[in-house]
Amino acid sequence: MATGTFTRRIWLVTALVYFLLASLAIFLNWQGGLSAVAPATPFLLAMLIARPRRDWRPILIGAAIGSMAATTLFGFGAAAAVPMAIAKVGEVGMAAWLFRRLRVRRGYFGSLARIGRFVAAVGIIAPALGATIAASVVVLRFGLPFGPQWRLWFIGHSLSMITLTPILSLLLSGVIGRHWRAAPRQLRIEAAVLLTTTAVVTAVVFFQNAWPLLFLPVLPVMLTTFRLGLPGAAVAAIILALVGGYATAHGYGPTSFIGGDVHERMAFFQFYFACAVLTTFPVGADLSRRQALYRRLRESEARYRLLADHSTDIVLGIDTGGRVTYLSPSIEQIVGRSPAQLHGSRALELVHPVDRDLVLIAHRDALRDVAGTQIVEYRARVSNGALRWFESHTRAVQGDDGRVSGTVSMIRDVSHRKAREAELSRAASTDPLTGLANRRVFDAALAERIAVAADGGIAGCVAVFDIDHFKAVNDRHGHDAGDHALQAFARIARGVMRDGDVVARLGGEEFGVLFPGTGIEQAHCLCERLRATLAATRLRHGPATVELTVSAGIAAIDGTGSAAMVLRAADQALYAAKAGGRDRLRLAA
Ligand code: GH3
Ligand code: MG
Ligand code: MG
Repeated sequence: MATGTFTRRIWLVTALVYFLLASLAIFLNWQGGLSAVAPATPFLLAMLIARPRRDWRPILIGAAIGSMAATTLFGFGAAAAVPMAIAKVGEVGMAAWLFRRLRVRRGYFGSLARIGRFVAAVGIIAPALGATIAASVVVLRFGLPFGPQWRLWFIGHSLSMITLTPILSLLLSGVIGRHWRAAPRQLRIEAAVLLTTTAVVTAVVFFQNAWPLLFLPVLPVMLTTFRLGLPGAAVAAIILALVGGYATAHGYGPTSFIGGDVHERMAFFQFYFACAVLTTFPVGADLSRRQALYRRLRESEARYRLLADHSTDIVLGIDTGGRVTYLSPSIEQIVGRSPAQLHGSRALELVHPVDRDLVLIAHRDALRDVAGTQIVEYRARVSNGALRWFESHTRAVQGDDGRVSGTVSMIRDVSHRKAREAELSRAASTDPLTGLANRRVFDAALAERIAVAADGGIAGCVAVFDIDHFKAVNDRHGHDAGDHALQAFARIARGVMRDGDVVARLGGEEFGVLFPGTGIEQAHCLCERLRATLAATRLRHGPATVELTVSAGIAAIDGTGSAAMVLRAADQALYAAKAGGRDRLRLAA
């Protein structure tokens, strides 16, 4: 409601304030020429900066009305009212337009380039335009000399615009009020002390004519800026302007040392004030920006700390030399040592010795390839002595200057996944009934031996076993007894064969054994032992006793044939064994 009313009446508010400020300037400076101090135009510019674009028209109309009223009543008279209004509103309109064009509207003390653009737009181009129009008016109407009048306007408006615009736009945008309301008690007291000091020092310096202490007020103003940032700088500058300006206009203060009339001293004071503002405001703006940055950084730090503290994953930071710089609290539950205890220790010591090379390579790769993420799996001993699997995702930590200061890793316990993977891979390679290797594993092992043979190495032998009359076992004792018999055969085979031999179930009641690097006699001997053991074993299944025999064909892997050929040779030998009466072995031809 209030804002709506304000917006509707904005032309009126602008007209009134503009009228008051313009009249004040005329009264302060009236010497039959143009004013040297111009608070009305910076006010108008600050209004345009603070308000949205749609408010510009009523603001400019209000200012034109206020300007014409002041000129008519107190200034050059009704005849000059319109051209003077054009000069002033035109000047501010030009400044506001340049503001938009040069993108200095917001944060115009943000960088040196922005300060430069701000000074060029507001302190040079716009007042030059205003000075040209206004000086032409007074030349034509009053016959005053163009040059001095132009200079008077230009200097006065330039300095007023540069100094008062930032202060007034801070006031109008409500930044100062917002800061005051948000400030804790302690800060308010500090602000009050600093600003009072500024006022007292400025008053002492400007209301005496004995000492040229012009530099002294800059001290409390600077101090206020450092402590309170941009809003503090603005309020301190206002105090300096009011106290110093009033004293100078009344003939007091250090400017009396330079001589000249009150006009020249006012111009000098304005110049002094502009220097003070252009020194403190960039500092204040920078401090405010840093404060905001620091606050955001702290919030972000708190957010990440919260994540790290409550994550079951481990966050690990290490320097380029591999020493621990950060560890999240979850490490304590895992290795039984606190982050503080591990700080500065060599991160690699946490890794199982077998996997250290791998982890070291990943660390070095992360340091080298700053854009990439290195993923590595390794084992580490945990607090209960068990060996567990971990997975690290590691990236380089890079400073603003591009220098790499270390790495940061997210580490997760992947033991469950590893166990599941191992289980899956075991399931994919074993026969579920007998627990022996399956056909896939047998074929792969055989292919490997064929490759060894092709290279001229001692490859080994293959045997194919087939249980005799197995159909009859099933028929007589049932399928369960058959399964049981197959498991018994597998157990005996595993017992007879050596560690390096691959015993596999090839399908049904057919088994294969691969003897790597073994000669045919040795293989025959082992197969014979299996055959004989099985034949001598009585298998019990419930009340029944099952007797089993097996036949086998054995073939050497000699480097001339493929895997299929080797297996076919063994199969043919097996048929020969069957044909020969079963319960026997045959060597391939
Ligand atoms: P031979 O001496 O000629 O080898 O005679 P056999 O009866 O063993 O001959 P065949 O190869 O025809 O029969 C194999 C039988 O094995 C047929 C099938 O019912 C049985 N069999 C295959 N796989 C399994 C199994 O997993 N469990 C059981 N219980 N029987 C199986
Ligand atoms: Mg068979
Ligand atoms: Mg059989």
